[in-house]
Amino acid sequence: MRPILATISQSALRHNLAVVKQYAPNSKVMAALKANGYGHGLANIADALSATDGFAVLDLAEAISLREMSFEQPILLLEGIFNASELAIVKGYSLSLVVHSFAQIEMLEAYFAKHVTPHSPLTGEGGKHHLSVFLKMNTGMNRLGFVPQDYIVALKRIEKLTPHITLMTHFAAADEPQGVDAALAIFKKTTQGLIYPTSLANSAAILCQPQTHADWVRPGIMLYGATPAKNTSATECGLKPVMQFTSEIISVQTLQAGETLGYGNRFTANKTMRVGVVACGYADGYPRHAGQYSGNHHLQGVPIAVAGQRTQTIGRVSMDMLFVDITDIPQANIGAPVELWGNTVPVDAVAKACDTIGYELLCAVAPRVPFKVVD
Ligand SMILES: *Cc1c(COP(=O)(O)O)cnc(C)c1O
Repeated sequence: MRPILATISQSALRHNLAVVKQYAPNSKVMAALKANGYGHGLANIADALSATDGFAVLDLAEAISLREMSFEQPILLLEGIFNASELAIVKGYSLSLVVHSFAQIEMLEAYFAKHVTPHSPLTGEGGKHHLSVFLKMNTGMNRLGFVPQDYIVALKRIEKLTPHITLMTHFAAADEPQGVDAALAIFKKTTQGLIYPTSLANSAAILCQPQTHADWVRPGIMLYGATPAKNTSATECGLKPVMQFTSEIISVQTLQAGETLGYGNRFTANKTMRVGVVACGYADGYPRHAGQYSGNHHLQGVPIAVAGQRTQTIGRVSMDMLFVDITDIPQANIGAPVELWGNTVPVDAVAKACDTIGYELLCAVAPRVPFKVVD
């Protein structure tokens, strides 16, 4: 077997969920598990998060698999339904829906007109089915949601269908000091006097904007032990990495000054160097654009650990392999353990060196990488 492996720590997940509760002690937690649990595997993480008050996912398949794992908490579809035929499944699995457009309201109204008998005050029968709606306001992100001018109109229409309503928005810049001020003011003004529960905060807002915590927080990235903030590390936030992405050295080369390495001869040794070839490439989800080049020279590699010691990648990442500088790690030979990201090299440090974010790297771990769950 190729030595590559993603190891998922359940105790780190439980720890990070507890950290969410420390930051937002008065809020219920809706754990964001979309994109297959940010690449960690839904089935690998759901049990460790069973103390959460709810789950937020993107598509029906994720929601159904959580229900079939016997979770009874609310399961929220973050983009709601995409077409009316999904409503029977939503009802069957008691899923909660984000409603962000009038098109979705029309689908719901048509479904209720056809399938839900109106409530009869005489017999006490019929009436609203227990659909739970998170009604989304666009407070400046301009992605999903009703603009403030339409929000109350949308709310009035949803109120005719169900009493189970949560008022919701999503921030565009919760990691910046005054990043939520304008959006929060719009949300508060529009929802003034309404008595429904509210949900506003993603990880960045949980960590940096306590005034947004409200009734439900929606942490994603922080549960996985990475940071949403540019200038604060996950460790500084008290979080532990959930994924250890590891492999091994499968070949060692010695380069003389002037010799080149890998495809496109992208790296030239300027001295005698020891190079480890690692069983991990872009087909495993490692970013091919890793490191910065100028002309033919690899100026700066990506942090990586070999035998517990930090070093950096060199040369171009290939489909199945990458190169690492082990000149200063003489004990590293074939079989030496390599950490691509995890406890020694935070995924955020790898992301920074690749001009991306930890989210993207975690979500991109390829299906061919085997996973192992540990406590
Ligand atoms: C993904 C998502 C979250 C979680 O975001 P993080 O930055 O990972 O904490 C919260 N709310 C909504 C609407 C989302 O789509």
